[in-house]
Amino acid sequence: MGKKEKHNFTNSWIKHSDPYLIAGPCSAETEDQVMETARQLVESNKPHLFRAGIWKPRTRPNSFEGVGEKGLPWLKRVKEEFGLPVTIEVANTDHVEKALKYDIDVLWIGARTTVSPFAVQEIAESLRGVDIPVMIKNPINPDYALWVGAIERLLNTGNNKLAAIHRGFSSISSEYRNTPNWEIPIKLKTDFPDLKIICDPSHISGQRNKVFNVAQKALDLDFDGLMIETHITPDDAWSDAQQQITPQQLSETMSLLTVRSNTS
Ligand code: PEP
Ligand code: MN
Repeated sequence: MGKKEKHNFTNSWIKHSDPYLIAGPCSAETEDQVMETARQLVESNKPHLFRAGIWKPRTRPNSFEGVGEKGLPWLKRVKEEFGLPVTIEVANTDHVEKALKYDIDVLWIGARTTVSPFAVQEIAESLRGVDIPVMIKNPINPDYALWVGAIERLLNTGNNKLAAIHRGFSSISSEYRNTPNWEIPIKLKTDFPDLKIICDPSHISGQRNKVFNVAQKALDLDFDGLMIETHITPDDAWSDAQQQITPQQLSETMSLLTVRSNTS
């Protein structure tokens, strides 16, 4: 890249509210689990956006791959009953079509999809003319250009309500589930100064006791927001059990994090 990319990102959907907080379970499992997680979040530390995976692209087969379309009305209930906007992962155009049918507020593209230019292009085309924010996770591998390419595919089809999510990169290191490489999101911020960047400490850490430190590091580096997986009974979660925290623990985490005052 080497030069600042001038794009008019429409950031009004993300308020820099120190930090913008996205929380909710890795996966929507049952209607009760989704509603109870949302209720406890609202009571302890209301996030700006509620997340839950409906379609789960798992690295290996024979594990839980999401409840699918039947989870979409549960998210609609979260919106209606708690006044919480909702976000889900979409990995193909069928997911996009169904998400739009159920008034999902924000979409995200997962790390396993960002690696695939054809998949991202199809999603981008299916959103042409649709006014919906999209968050783009970094690809699994530390390939800066691939991440930028996915962002550009959305920009090229007329979507500028974008944000990027750093969720770490696959590596053989055992300290983290997905190793953070802070230089890559910092470069993104330098090249696209108006693009909001969110950190996902849950998928970086892979373990709940590391979530705080990774979140603090991201805030120290001026990230705009955090996406933190939250479950009412984390040890029973159907996916990513080790890294999820309870709404109460999220509330404690948020109160302990130090936010640098934004001077810009
Ligand atoms: C998720 O957010 O639950 C998820 C599958 O994330 P990633 O694409 O970062 O692995
Ligand atoms: Mn997860």
